Amino acid sequence: MNPVPNGKSQDKKSIGKNIEKNQLAEVVIQDMTENGEGIGKLDGYTFFIKDTVIGDRVLVKIIKAKKTYGYARLMEILTPSADRTEPRCPAAGPCGGCQLQSMTYEAQLAFKRKKVEDHLRRIGGFLDITVEPVIGMKEPWCYRNKAQFPVGRDRDGKIRIGFYAGRTHSIIETERCYLGRPVNEQVLAIVRTWMNRQKIVPYDETTGKGLIRHVLIREGRATGQVMVCLVINGKKLPAAEMLVQELKDIPGMTSISYNINMEQTNVILGRQVVTLWGEDTIEDQIGGISFRISPLSFYQVNPEQTERLYGKALEFAGLTGGENVWDLYCGIGTISLFLAQKAGKVHGVEIIPAAIENARENAERNGFTNTEFFVGKAEEVLPQWYREHGEKADVIVVDPPRKGCDPALLDVMLQMDPERIVYVSCDSATLARDLKILTGENRYQIKTIQPVDMFPQSVHVETVCLLSRK
Ligand code: SAH
Repeated sequence: MNPVPNGKSQDKKSIGKNIEKNQLAEVVIQDMTENGEGIGKLDGYTFFIKDTVIGDRVLVKIIKAKKTYGYARLMEILTPSADRTEPRCPAAGPCGGCQLQSMTYEAQLAFKRKKVEDHLRRIGGFLDITVEPVIGMKEPWCYRNKAQFPVGRDRDGKIRIGFYAGRTHSIIETERCYLGRPVNEQVLAIVRTWMNRQKIVPYDETTGKGLIRHVLIREGRATGQVMVCLVINGKKLPAAEMLVQELKDIPGMTSISYNINMEQTNVILGRQVVTLWGEDTIEDQIGGISFRISPLSFYQVNPEQTERLYGKALEFAGLTGGENVWDLYCGIGTISLFLAQKAGKVHGVEIIPAAIENARENAERNGFTNTEFFVGKAEEVLPQWYREHGEKADVIVVDPPRKGCDPALLDVMLQMDPERIVYVSCDSATLARDLKILTGENRYQIKTIQPVDMFPQSVHVETVCLLSRK
Protein backbone atom coordinates (compact mmCIF):
# COMPACT_ATOMS: atom_id res chain seq x y z
CA MET A 1 0.00 0.00 0.00
CA ASN A 2 1.43 3.37 -0.96
CA PRO A 3 0.46 6.61 0.73
CA VAL A 4 -0.82 9.20 -1.74
CA PRO A 5 -0.39 12.87 -0.87
CA ASN A 6 -3.74 14.26 0.13
CA GLY A 7 -4.91 17.84 0.20
CA LYS A 8 -7.67 18.13 2.76
CA SER A 9 -7.20 16.31 6.01
CA GLN A 10 -9.00 18.46 8.56
CA ASP A 11 -9.00 15.68 11.11
CA LYS A 12 -5.33 14.81 11.21
CA LYS A 13 -4.88 11.89 13.50
CA SER A 14 -1.57 10.17 13.24
CA ILE A 15 -1.66 6.39 13.20
CA GLY A 16 1.80 5.35 12.24
CA LYS A 17 4.81 7.30 11.11
CA ASN A 18 3.34 7.92 7.70
CA ILE A 19 -0.37 7.33 8.13
CA GLU A 20 -3.04 9.87 8.93
CA LYS A 21 -6.79 9.81 9.08
CA ASN A 22 -8.44 11.03 5.86
CA GLN A 23 -5.29 10.28 3.96
CA LEU A 24 -5.61 8.65 0.56
CA ALA A 25 -3.58 5.56 -0.19
CA GLU A 26 -3.13 2.99 -2.91
CA VAL A 27 -3.38 -0.62 -1.87
CA VAL A 28 -3.56 -4.12 -3.31
CA ILE A 29 -6.10 -6.32 -1.52
CA GLN A 30 -4.17 -9.33 -0.23
CA ASP A 31 -6.71 -11.26 1.77
CA MET A 32 -10.25 -11.15 3.10
CA THR A 33 -11.80 -11.37 6.53
CA GLU A 34 -14.42 -14.02 7.14
CA ASN A 35 -17.00 -11.24 7.00
CA GLY A 36 -15.98 -10.41 3.45
CA GLU A 37 -13.97 -7.21 4.00
CA GLY A 38 -10.79 -6.87 1.94
CA ILE A 39 -7.48 -6.64 3.78
CA GLY A 40 -4.70 -4.28 2.72
CA LYS A 41 -1.45 -3.38 4.45
CA LEU A 42 0.21 -0.01 4.84
CA ASP A 43 3.44 0.47 6.78
CA GLY A 44 2.78 -2.78 8.60
CA TYR A 45 -0.74 -1.70 9.62
CA THR A 46 -3.69 -3.77 8.56
CA PHE A 47 -6.62 -2.01 6.94
CA PHE A 48 -10.09 -3.41 6.38
CA ILE A 49 -11.81 -2.18 3.25
CA LYS A 50 -15.42 -3.04 2.43
CA ASP A 51 -16.55 -3.84 -1.13
CA THR A 52 -13.12 -4.93 -2.28
CA VAL A 53 -12.00 -8.27 -3.66
CA ILE A 54 -8.66 -10.10 -3.27
CA GLY A 55 -6.43 -8.96 -6.13
CA ASP A 56 -8.03 -5.50 -6.57
CA ARG A 57 -5.66 -2.53 -6.75
CA VAL A 58 -7.64 0.30 -5.20
CA LEU A 59 -7.49 3.88 -3.99
CA VAL A 60 -8.77 4.18 -0.43
CA LYS A 61 -9.30 6.82 2.22
CA ILE A 62 -8.32 6.05 5.80
CA ILE A 63 -11.41 6.58 7.94
CA LYS A 64 -10.68 5.02 11.28
CA ALA A 65 -7.51 4.08 13.04
CA LYS A 66 -6.80 1.92 16.05
CA LYS A 67 -3.39 1.00 17.45
CA THR A 68 -2.54 -1.82 15.08
CA TYR A 69 -5.34 -1.78 12.54
CA GLY A 70 -7.81 0.54 10.89
CA TYR A 71 -10.60 0.95 8.38
CA ALA A 72 -10.46 2.55 4.96
CA ARG A 73 -13.14 3.46 2.45
CA LEU A 74 -12.97 2.39 -1.17
CA MET A 75 -12.62 5.50 -3.36
CA GLU A 76 -11.68 4.02 -6.72
CA ILE A 77 -10.88 0.66 -8.24
CA LEU A 78 -7.59 1.22 -10.08
CA THR A 79 -7.15 -2.32 -11.44
CA PRO A 80 -9.95 -4.79 -10.83
CA SER A 81 -9.20 -8.30 -9.62
CA ALA A 82 -9.85 -11.20 -12.01
CA ASP A 83 -12.37 -12.37 -9.38
CA ARG A 84 -14.36 -9.13 -9.53
CA THR A 85 -17.75 -8.88 -11.13
CA GLU A 86 -20.47 -6.22 -11.38
CA PRO A 87 -22.98 -6.55 -8.49
CA ARG A 88 -26.49 -7.22 -9.79
CA CYS A 89 -28.28 -5.29 -7.07
CA PRO A 90 -27.95 -1.47 -7.00
CA ALA A 91 -28.12 -1.62 -3.17
CA ALA A 92 -25.40 -4.30 -2.87
CA GLY A 93 -22.90 -1.85 -1.31
CA PRO A 94 -24.93 -0.34 1.54
CA CYS A 95 -27.30 -3.28 2.17
CA GLY A 96 -26.24 -5.59 4.99
CA GLY A 97 -27.75 -8.66 3.33
CA CYS A 98 -25.12 -9.49 0.71
CA GLN A 99 -21.39 -9.13 1.25
CA LEU A 100 -19.96 -10.91 -1.79
CA GLN A 101 -21.86 -9.60 -4.80
CA SER A 102 -18.68 -8.03 -6.20
CA MET A 103 -17.09 -11.50 -6.41
CA THR A 104 -17.61 -14.03 -9.18
CA TYR A 105 -19.58 -17.04 -7.95
CA GLU A 106 -16.55 -19.30 -8.41
CA ALA A 107 -14.48 -17.03 -6.18
CA GLN A 108 -17.29 -16.96 -3.59
CA LEU A 109 -17.21 -20.76 -3.40
CA ALA A 110 -13.42 -20.77 -3.02
CA PHE A 111 -13.71 -18.11 -0.29
CA LYS A 112 -16.21 -20.26 1.63
CA ARG A 113 -14.12 -23.40 1.38
CA LYS A 114 -11.15 -21.51 2.77
CA LYS A 115 -13.26 -20.02 5.55
CA VAL A 116 -14.26 -23.49 6.74
CA GLU A 117 -10.66 -24.73 6.41
CA ASP A 118 -9.30 -21.74 8.38
CA HIS A 119 -11.78 -22.28 11.22
CA LEU A 120 -11.01 -25.98 11.44
CA ARG A 121 -7.28 -25.27 11.58
CA ARG A 122 -7.33 -22.24 13.85
CA ILE A 123 -10.13 -23.12 16.27
CA GLY A 124 -10.28 -26.90 15.97
CA GLY A 125 -6.53 -27.50 15.64
CA PHE A 126 -7.14 -29.86 12.68
CA LEU A 127 -4.01 -28.99 10.78
CA ASP A 128 -4.10 -31.44 7.88
CA ILE A 129 -7.82 -31.51 7.30
CA THR A 130 -9.27 -31.71 3.77
CA VAL A 131 -12.45 -29.79 3.11
CA GLU A 132 -14.44 -30.90 0.05
CA PRO A 133 -15.19 -28.30 -2.64
CA VAL A 134 -18.35 -26.34 -1.77
CA ILE A 135 -21.52 -27.61 -3.46
CA GLY A 136 -22.78 -24.51 -5.26
CA MET A 137 -25.91 -23.50 -7.16
CA LYS A 138 -26.34 -23.33 -10.93
CA GLU A 139 -28.19 -20.02 -10.70
CA PRO A 140 -27.22 -18.37 -7.40
CA TRP A 141 -30.07 -15.78 -7.34
CA CYS A 142 -33.75 -15.54 -6.31
CA TYR A 143 -33.30 -18.54 -4.04
CA ARG A 144 -34.66 -17.28 -0.72
CA ASN A 145 -38.10 -18.64 0.16
CA LYS A 146 -38.33 -16.29 3.13
CA ALA A 147 -37.86 -12.55 3.58
CA GLN A 148 -38.26 -10.33 6.64
CA PHE A 149 -38.51 -6.68 5.66
CA PRO A 150 -38.16 -4.07 8.42
CA VAL A 151 -40.65 -1.17 8.27
CA GLY A 152 -39.81 2.37 9.39
CA ARG A 153 -39.72 5.98 8.21
CA ASP A 154 -37.24 8.09 6.32
CA ARG A 155 -36.22 11.58 7.46
CA ASP A 156 -39.23 13.15 5.76
CA GLY A 157 -41.59 10.81 7.60
CA LYS A 158 -42.32 8.68 4.56
CA ILE A 159 -42.82 4.96 5.10
CA ARG A 160 -39.74 2.98 4.30
CA ILE A 161 -39.67 -0.78 3.75
CA GLY A 162 -36.47 -2.54 2.83
CA PHE A 163 -33.42 -4.00 4.49
CA TYR A 164 -31.03 -2.83 7.16
CA ALA A 165 -27.81 -1.21 6.01
CA GLY A 166 -24.69 -3.15 7.07
CA ARG A 167 -24.13 -3.11 10.87
CA THR A 168 -26.89 -0.56 11.48
CA HIS A 169 -30.64 -0.41 11.81
CA SER A 170 -31.19 2.30 9.23
CA ILE A 171 -33.49 0.94 6.55
CA ILE A 172 -32.49 1.08 2.90
CA GLU A 173 -35.47 1.26 0.59
CA THR A 174 -35.19 -1.84 -1.57
CA GLU A 175 -38.07 -2.48 -3.89
CA ARG A 176 -36.45 -5.56 -5.21
CA CYS A 177 -34.13 -8.00 -3.49
CA TYR A 178 -32.23 -10.12 -6.00
CA LEU A 179 -32.07 -13.03 -3.60
CA GLY A 180 -35.81 -13.01 -2.93
CA ARG A 181 -38.87 -14.20 -4.78
CA PRO A 182 -40.84 -11.94 -7.16
CA VAL A 183 -43.97 -12.18 -4.96
CA ASN A 184 -42.24 -10.07 -2.29
CA GLU A 185 -42.57 -6.90 -4.35
CA GLN A 186 -46.27 -7.44 -4.85
CA VAL A 187 -46.85 -7.96 -1.13
CA LEU A 188 -44.79 -4.93 -0.12
CA ALA A 189 -46.59 -2.63 -2.57
CA ILE A 190 -49.93 -3.65 -1.06
CA VAL A 191 -48.74 -3.24 2.53
CA ARG A 192 -47.28 0.18 1.76
CA THR A 193 -50.47 1.46 0.07
CA TRP A 194 -52.61 0.08 2.89
CA MET A 195 -50.43 1.76 5.54
CA ASN A 196 -50.59 5.10 3.74
CA ARG A 197 -54.35 4.96 3.16
CA GLN A 198 -55.27 3.76 6.61
CA LYS A 199 -52.64 5.94 8.32
CA ILE A 200 -51.03 2.93 9.95
CA VAL A 201 -47.87 3.98 11.74
CA PRO A 202 -44.55 2.16 11.32
CA TYR A 203 -42.67 1.11 14.44
CA ASP A 204 -39.91 3.38 15.70
CA GLU A 205 -37.09 1.46 17.36
CA THR A 206 -35.78 4.43 19.29
CA THR A 207 -39.07 5.32 20.99
CA GLY A 208 -40.69 1.88 21.01
CA LYS A 209 -43.84 3.51 19.54
CA GLY A 210 -45.69 2.76 16.30
CA LEU A 211 -47.25 -0.45 15.06
CA ILE A 212 -45.77 -2.25 12.04
CA ARG A 213 -42.31 -3.71 12.69
CA HIS A 214 -41.64 -6.27 9.98
CA VAL A 215 -43.29 -7.94 7.01
CA LEU A 216 -42.48 -11.65 6.89
CA ILE A 217 -43.10 -13.41 3.58
CA ARG A 218 -42.62 -17.09 2.87
CA GLU A 219 -43.18 -19.06 -0.29
CA GLY A 220 -43.32 -22.85 -0.64
CA ARG A 221 -41.13 -23.46 -3.68
CA ALA A 222 -42.69 -26.78 -4.67
CA THR A 223 -46.30 -25.74 -3.97
CA GLY A 224 -46.30 -22.01 -4.80
CA GLN A 225 -48.14 -21.35 -1.51
CA VAL A 226 -47.50 -17.91 -0.03
CA MET A 227 -47.59 -16.77 3.60
CA VAL A 228 -47.62 -13.16 4.81
CA CYS A 229 -47.20 -12.32 8.49
CA LEU A 230 -47.04 -8.73 9.79
CA VAL A 231 -45.04 -8.36 12.99
CA ILE A 232 -46.73 -5.70 15.10
CA ASN A 233 -46.14 -3.77 18.29
CA GLY A 234 -49.71 -4.20 19.50
CA LYS A 235 -52.38 -6.77 20.15
CA LYS A 236 -54.72 -5.97 17.24
CA LEU A 237 -54.28 -5.04 13.62
CA PRO A 238 -56.56 -2.15 12.63
CA ALA A 239 -58.18 -2.12 9.17
CA ALA A 240 -57.10 -5.72 8.75
CA GLU A 241 -59.98 -6.56 6.37
CA MET A 242 -58.76 -3.98 3.84
CA LEU A 243 -55.31 -5.51 3.87
CA VAL A 244 -56.65 -9.05 3.57
CA GLN A 245 -58.92 -8.03 0.65
CA GLU A 246 -55.87 -6.95 -1.33
CA LEU A 247 -53.44 -9.67 -0.30
CA LYS A 248 -55.73 -12.65 -0.75
CA ASP A 249 -55.86 -12.20 -4.54
CA ILE A 250 -52.12 -12.68 -4.95
CA PRO A 251 -51.66 -16.04 -6.72
CA GLY A 252 -50.73 -18.74 -4.21
CA MET A 253 -51.79 -16.76 -1.15
CA THR A 254 -52.53 -19.32 1.55
CA SER A 255 -51.97 -17.76 4.95
CA ILE A 256 -52.27 -14.17 6.21
CA SER A 257 -51.49 -13.50 9.86
CA TYR A 258 -49.95 -11.12 12.32
CA ASN A 259 -47.44 -11.76 15.06
CA ILE A 260 -47.42 -9.83 18.32
CA ASN A 261 -44.05 -8.49 19.43
CA MET A 262 -44.31 -5.69 22.00
CA GLU A 263 -40.80 -6.02 23.39
CA GLN A 264 -38.13 -3.42 22.66
CA THR A 265 -35.75 -5.96 21.18
CA ASN A 266 -33.86 -6.93 18.03
CA VAL A 267 -35.57 -10.29 18.01
CA ILE A 268 -37.96 -10.09 15.07
CA LEU A 269 -40.81 -12.40 16.06
CA GLY A 270 -42.88 -12.54 19.23
CA ARG A 271 -44.47 -15.76 20.44
CA GLN A 272 -48.10 -15.26 19.45
CA VAL A 273 -49.47 -15.53 15.93
CA VAL A 274 -53.05 -14.61 14.98
CA THR A 275 -54.31 -15.91 11.64
CA LEU A 276 -56.40 -13.35 9.77
CA TRP A 277 -57.23 -15.31 6.65
CA GLY A 278 -56.60 -18.79 5.26
CA GLU A 279 -54.47 -21.46 6.88
CA ASP A 280 -52.15 -21.23 9.89
CA THR A 281 -49.40 -22.83 7.83
CA ILE A 282 -48.15 -23.20 4.27
CA GLU A 283 -46.92 -26.38 2.72
CA ASP A 284 -43.72 -27.21 0.85
CA GLN A 285 -42.00 -30.35 -0.37
CA ILE A 286 -38.39 -31.43 -0.18
CA GLY A 287 -37.29 -34.70 -1.70
CA GLY A 288 -40.85 -35.96 -2.06
CA ILE A 289 -41.75 -35.35 1.59
CA SER A 290 -44.25 -32.59 2.33
CA PHE A 291 -43.89 -30.17 5.21
CA ARG A 292 -46.24 -27.76 6.95
CA ILE A 293 -44.52 -24.59 8.08
CA SER A 294 -45.85 -21.99 10.52
CA PRO A 295 -44.55 -18.39 10.77
CA LEU A 296 -42.57 -19.21 13.92
CA SER A 297 -40.88 -22.35 12.66
CA PHE A 298 -37.37 -22.54 11.32
CA TYR A 299 -37.30 -23.71 7.72
CA GLN A 300 -34.20 -23.68 5.50
CA VAL A 301 -34.32 -20.63 3.20
CA ASN A 302 -32.84 -22.18 0.07
CA PRO A 303 -35.00 -25.12 -1.02
CA GLU A 304 -32.83 -26.24 -3.96
CA GLN A 305 -29.70 -26.49 -1.81
CA THR A 306 -31.61 -27.87 1.17
CA GLU A 307 -32.36 -30.97 -0.85
CA ARG A 308 -28.62 -31.39 -1.52
CA LEU A 309 -27.74 -30.70 2.13
CA TYR A 310 -30.26 -33.19 3.52
CA GLY A 311 -29.23 -35.68 0.84
CA LYS A 312 -25.64 -35.46 2.12
CA ALA A 313 -26.80 -35.79 5.74
CA LEU A 314 -28.74 -38.93 4.79
CA GLU A 315 -25.80 -40.35 2.84
CA PHE A 316 -23.43 -39.69 5.78
CA ALA A 317 -25.88 -41.32 8.22
CA GLY A 318 -25.30 -44.57 6.28
CA LEU A 319 -28.65 -46.07 7.29
CA THR A 320 -29.57 -49.64 6.38
CA GLY A 321 -33.04 -49.91 7.89
CA GLY A 322 -32.90 -50.83 11.56
CA GLU A 323 -30.96 -47.98 13.15
CA ASN A 324 -31.88 -46.07 16.25
CA VAL A 325 -31.38 -42.40 15.31
CA TRP A 326 -31.55 -39.02 17.10
CA ASP A 327 -32.06 -35.73 15.23
CA LEU A 328 -31.25 -32.89 17.61
CA TYR A 329 -32.39 -29.31 16.87
CA CYS A 330 -34.90 -30.86 14.48
CA GLY A 331 -37.14 -27.84 13.71
CA ILE A 332 -40.27 -29.04 11.92
CA GLY A 333 -38.71 -32.48 11.48
CA THR A 334 -37.28 -32.01 8.00
CA ILE A 335 -34.06 -33.98 8.51
CA SER A 336 -35.87 -36.39 10.85
CA LEU A 337 -38.29 -37.45 8.11
CA PHE A 338 -35.51 -37.71 5.53
CA LEU A 339 -33.77 -40.11 7.92
CA ALA A 340 -36.97 -41.95 8.89
CA GLN A 341 -37.26 -43.22 5.30
CA LYS A 342 -34.31 -45.49 5.97
CA ALA A 343 -34.04 -45.86 9.76
CA GLY A 344 -35.65 -48.11 12.37
CA LYS A 345 -36.62 -45.25 14.65
CA VAL A 346 -35.95 -41.50 14.65
CA HIS A 347 -36.23 -39.27 17.73
CA GLY A 348 -36.35 -35.50 17.14
CA VAL A 349 -35.75 -32.76 19.73
CA GLU A 350 -36.57 -29.08 19.26
CA ILE A 351 -37.07 -26.10 21.56
CA ILE A 352 -40.01 -24.37 19.79
CA PRO A 353 -43.36 -26.03 20.61
CA ALA A 354 -45.05 -24.87 17.36
CA ALA A 355 -42.25 -26.46 15.33
CA ILE A 356 -42.72 -29.78 17.15
CA GLU A 357 -46.46 -29.60 16.49
CA ASN A 358 -45.61 -29.16 12.80
CA ALA A 359 -43.09 -32.02 13.03
CA ARG A 360 -45.66 -34.46 14.45
CA GLU A 361 -48.21 -33.40 11.88
CA ASN A 362 -45.65 -33.69 9.08
CA ALA A 363 -44.71 -37.21 10.18
CA GLU A 364 -48.34 -38.29 10.30
CA ARG A 365 -49.35 -36.72 6.99
CA ASN A 366 -46.43 -38.41 5.26
CA GLY A 367 -47.32 -41.76 6.82
CA PHE A 368 -44.31 -42.19 9.11
CA THR A 369 -44.90 -44.33 12.19
CA ASN A 370 -41.27 -44.64 13.30
CA THR A 371 -40.73 -41.09 14.61
CA GLU A 372 -41.08 -39.51 18.04
CA PHE A 373 -40.65 -35.81 18.80
CA PHE A 374 -39.77 -34.07 22.06
CA VAL A 375 -40.12 -30.37 22.96
CA GLY A 376 -37.29 -28.87 24.98
CA LYS A 377 -33.63 -27.96 25.03
CA ALA A 378 -31.59 -30.71 23.41
CA GLU A 379 -29.01 -30.36 26.21
CA GLU A 380 -31.73 -31.13 28.78
CA VAL A 381 -34.01 -33.57 26.95
CA LEU A 382 -31.30 -35.95 25.76
CA PRO A 383 -29.39 -36.33 29.08
CA GLN A 384 -32.66 -36.92 30.93
CA TRP A 385 -33.88 -39.44 28.38
CA TYR A 386 -30.56 -41.29 28.51
CA ARG A 387 -30.59 -41.37 32.31
CA GLU A 388 -34.07 -42.86 32.28
CA HIS A 389 -33.70 -45.30 29.37
CA GLY A 390 -29.97 -46.01 29.15
CA GLU A 391 -30.46 -46.77 25.46
CA LYS A 392 -27.54 -46.09 23.11
CA ALA A 393 -27.87 -44.62 19.63
CA ASP A 394 -26.61 -45.86 16.26
CA VAL A 395 -26.54 -42.47 14.57
CA ILE A 396 -26.87 -38.95 16.01
CA VAL A 397 -27.53 -35.94 13.78
CA VAL A 398 -27.20 -32.38 15.12
CA ASP A 399 -28.16 -29.16 13.34
CA PRO A 400 -27.73 -26.41 15.93
CA PRO A 401 -28.12 -22.62 15.48
CA ARG A 402 -24.97 -20.51 15.06
CA LYS A 403 -23.88 -20.80 18.66
CA GLY A 404 -23.32 -24.53 18.19
CA CYS A 405 -23.97 -27.36 20.65
CA ASP A 406 -24.11 -27.05 24.41
CA PRO A 407 -21.21 -28.95 26.11
CA ALA A 408 -23.75 -30.96 28.15
CA LEU A 409 -25.24 -32.23 24.89
CA LEU A 410 -21.85 -33.17 23.40
CA ASP A 411 -21.06 -35.04 26.60
CA VAL A 412 -24.20 -37.20 26.51
CA MET A 413 -23.78 -37.78 22.76
CA LEU A 414 -20.39 -39.33 23.51
CA GLN A 415 -21.94 -41.46 26.27
CA MET A 416 -24.58 -42.75 23.85
CA ASP A 417 -21.72 -44.12 21.77
CA PRO A 418 -23.18 -43.83 18.23
CA GLU A 419 -21.34 -45.38 15.33
CA ARG A 420 -21.70 -42.19 13.35
CA ILE A 421 -22.32 -38.53 14.16
CA VAL A 422 -23.54 -36.19 11.41
CA TYR A 423 -23.01 -32.53 12.29
CA VAL A 424 -24.87 -29.98 10.16
CA SER A 425 -23.57 -26.49 10.91
CA CYS A 426 -24.36 -22.93 9.82
CA ASP A 427 -21.26 -21.53 11.55
CA SER A 428 -17.95 -23.22 10.91
CA ALA A 429 -16.32 -21.48 13.91
CA THR A 430 -18.58 -23.23 16.43
CA LEU A 431 -18.43 -26.40 14.33
CA ALA A 432 -14.64 -26.40 14.73
CA ARG A 433 -14.95 -25.83 18.48
CA ASP A 434 -17.44 -28.71 18.88
CA LEU A 435 -15.50 -31.10 16.62
CA LYS A 436 -12.48 -30.59 18.85
CA ILE A 437 -14.54 -31.85 21.79
CA LEU A 438 -16.09 -34.76 19.88
CA THR A 439 -12.74 -35.98 18.58
CA GLY A 440 -11.04 -35.22 21.91
CA GLU A 441 -10.70 -38.59 23.61
CA ASN A 442 -9.60 -40.15 20.36
CA ARG A 443 -12.87 -42.03 20.01
CA TYR A 444 -14.25 -40.29 16.94
CA GLN A 445 -12.55 -39.25 13.76
CA ILE A 446 -13.58 -36.81 11.08
CA LYS A 447 -14.37 -38.62 7.84
CA THR A 448 -15.75 -35.93 5.53
CA ILE A 449 -16.31 -32.18 5.68
CA GLN A 450 -18.75 -31.07 2.99
CA PRO A 451 -19.73 -27.39 2.72
CA VAL A 452 -22.95 -26.58 0.84
CA ASP A 453 -23.67 -23.07 -0.41
CA MET A 454 -27.08 -22.32 1.05
CA PHE A 455 -26.56 -18.54 0.99
CA PRO A 456 -24.97 -17.37 -2.30
CA GLN A 457 -23.82 -13.70 -2.35
CA SER A 458 -23.43 -13.70 1.45
CA VAL A 459 -20.43 -14.79 3.54
CA HIS A 460 -22.39 -17.55 5.25
CA VAL A 461 -21.71 -21.19 4.58
CA GLU A 462 -23.42 -24.38 5.69
CA THR A 463 -21.29 -27.47 6.38
CA VAL A 464 -22.18 -31.09 6.89
CA CYS A 465 -19.60 -33.24 8.59
CA LEU A 466 -19.35 -36.98 9.14
CA LEU A 467 -17.65 -38.36 12.25
CA SER A 468 -17.23 -42.05 12.82
CA ARG A 469 -16.33 -44.06 15.89
CA LYS A 470 -12.82 -45.45 15.73
N1 SAH B 1 -32.86 -29.29 11.44
C1 SAH B 1 -33.85 -28.28 11.19
C2 SAH B 1 -33.65 -27.00 12.00
C3 SAH B 1 -32.27 -26.47 12.15
S1 SAH B 1 -32.15 -24.82 12.77
C4 SAH B 1 -33.88 -27.95 9.71
O1 SAH B 1 -32.97 -28.27 8.95
O2 SAH B 1 -34.87 -27.37 9.27
C5 SAH B 1 -31.86 -25.00 14.46
C6 SAH B 1 -33.10 -25.32 15.27
O3 SAH B 1 -32.68 -25.45 16.62
C7 SAH B 1 -34.17 -24.26 15.27
O4 SAH B 1 -35.40 -24.84 14.92
C8 SAH B 1 -34.20 -23.76 16.73
O5 SAH B 1 -35.50 -23.42 17.16
C9 SAH B 1 -33.69 -24.95 17.48
N2 SAH B 1 -33.04 -24.74 18.78
C10 SAH B 1 -32.33 -23.68 19.20
N3 SAH B 1 -31.79 -23.92 20.42
C11 SAH B 1 -32.16 -25.17 20.78
C12 SAH B 1 -31.91 -26.00 21.92
N4 SAH B 1 -31.16 -25.56 22.93
N5 SAH B 1 -32.44 -27.23 21.93
C13 SAH B 1 -33.20 -27.69 20.90
N6 SAH B 1 -33.47 -26.94 19.81
C14 SAH B 1 -32.96 -25.70 19.74
